[in-house]
Amino acid sequence: MTETPDVLVVGAGLAGLSAATRLHRSGVRVTVLEAADDVGGRVRTDELDGFRLDRGFQVLLPAYPAIRRLVAVDELRLRKFTRGTITADHRWLAGPWHGLPAIEGLTRFLARHPSDGVRMAALVSRDFLAPDSVVRKDNQRTTAEEFRRWGLSASTIEKVLRPFLAGVFLDPALSTSSRLFHLLWRSFLRGGGALPSEGMQALPRSLAAGLPTETIRTDSAVAEVTHDGVRTKSGKHLTARAVVVATDGETASQLLPGVEPPEWHAVTTFYYRASAPPLRSPTLLVDGTSGLLINTAVISEVAPEYAPEGSALIAASVPDRADTHLEAQVRERLAFLYRTDTSAWELLRAYALPRALPVFPAGAPLRRPVRVGDGRYVCGDHRDTPSVQGALVSGQRAATAVLADLGRL
Ligand SMILES: Cc1cc2nc3c(=O)[nH]c(=O)nc-3n(C[C@H](O)[C@H](O)[C@H](O)COP(=O)(O)OP(=O)(O)OC[C@H]3O[C@@H](n4cnc5c(N)ncnc54)[C@H](O)[C@@H]3O)c2cc1C
Repeated sequence: MTETPDVLVVGAGLAGLSAATRLHRSGVRVTVLEAADDVGGRVRTDELDGFRLDRGFQVLLPAYPAIRRLVAVDELRLRKFTRGTITADHRWLAGPWHGLPAIEGLTRFLARHPSDGVRMAALVSRDFLAPDSVVRKDNQRTTAEEFRRWGLSASTIEKVLRPFLAGVFLDPALSTSSRLFHLLWRSFLRGGGALPSEGMQALPRSLAAGLPTETIRTDSAVAEVTHDGVRTKSGKHLTARAVVVATDGETASQLLPGVEPPEWHAVTTFYYRASAPPLRSPTLLVDGTSGLLINTAVISEVAPEYAPEGSALIAASVPDRADTHLEAQVRERLAFLYRTDTSAWELLRAYALPRALPVFPAGAPLRRPVRVGDGRYVCGDHRDTPSVQGALVSGQRAATAVLADLGRL
C-alpha cells in the first residue's frame, strides 16, 4: 500500500473515481478513502434474492460525453429503454419504429395537438443538432418557463413533459434551470436511456477496476482535512501533497470551510416483485396526474438480469419525498396505472433518499470552482450539473487542477 501518496481523494463516488483515474493515468500516486463498504456513492446496487436493486431508480445515458471518454461502455452490457414514454392514460409517445402502439400514439397526439407536434419537433431538432455553445447558452429561466416560451400546451407539459422530467430532476415543479434541461434532453435524444445488465453500480466498478487494487480503501471515513493531509474517523493521520474532497456537497461543506452546502431534492423508490410483468415493454410509464408517483417501469423488461427467472421487477418512484410510509398509496396507484391487481405484489425494498440530487435552479452556474485553497480541491455533482455527467466532469476538472499545481501537466 502507498503510505505517502501524492494525492488523497476523499470519496469513491463517480467524482472521486473520475479524479483518481485521471491522476493515476498521469502517473501520480493516489489513494482514495471511502467511508462506505464499497465504491459508487449514490450509484450502488443491492443484490436481494436474485434481484438487482439500484439504490433509487436511475438511468444511465450512454451519450453523456464523460462516460464515452472514461468507460468502456460495451463492457457494461447496456439494456435499453424505449426512446419514449407511456402516459397514465396509456398513450404511447415514442418513435414510430417502436411498433403499432407508438404509431397510434403519435398519430393521436399530432391530431389532437398539431401545434405541439411542430414545436416538439423544433425543440428536438435544436437540442439534437445545435453546437454545444448554443445548448449551454446562459439564461435565467426555469424549465417550466422554457416550455411556456416554446409555446407548448398545458396538456403536453402536464401529462408528458412534467412527469418525465420530474423523474430526471426529482423536481415536480420544474424549477430546475432550463440549461440543465437542454443538456440532459440532448443526451436522451442522442443515446436514450439504459441500464447495465449487472446494475448501475457496474459504472463506478468499471472505473475502480482501472485503478490498482491498493488505491481504494473502503470503510475509511475522513473526519478532518488537516494542513498536510487528512485525519480519519478511526484517528489515523495520512499526509499528501494535495487533498481532493469528492464527497457529497453536504459533507464537503463540513470538511472544507468556504464550500457552501447544496439544497437537495429527495426521492423514494419502491421495488416490487410480481409473478408476471404487468407491461411487456421496456418503456417508462409516466404519471402526471396523481401528484404522487412520477414514473414506474418494469425493470426486468428492460434488463432481464435484474430479476430471477419467473419473476418481474417493478420500480416506482415518488419525487421530492423521502417517505416509505407512502407504500399503500403507491401500490394502489400502480394498480390503476398497470390496470392490474397489485395486492399480491411483494414489496422487496423501499429506498428513501433525502439527499438524492443537488437543487440546480435557474441562473446556477454550470461549473463552480474546484480549487479551494493551497493543496485543497473539491469535486462532486454539486460543482457541476447534478448528474452522472456532472460528477465525472467535476472529477476530471479537479484532477487537472491538481496536476497543474503539481507541475505535472
Ligand atoms: C435515486 C437517484 C437517481 C439518480 N438518477 C440519475 C440519472 O438517472 N441520471 C443521472 O445522470 N444522474 C442521476 N442521479 C445523480 C447521480 O447519481 C449523482 O449526481 C452522482 O452519482 C454523484 O456522484 P458524486 O461522486 O458527486 O457523489 P456521491 O455519489 O455522493 O459520492 C460521494 C462519496 O463520498 C463518500 N463519503 C462521504 N463522506 C465521506 C467521508 N467523510 N470520508 C470518506 N468518504 C466519504 C460517500 O460514501 C460516497 O461514496 C441520481 C441520483 C440518485 C440518488
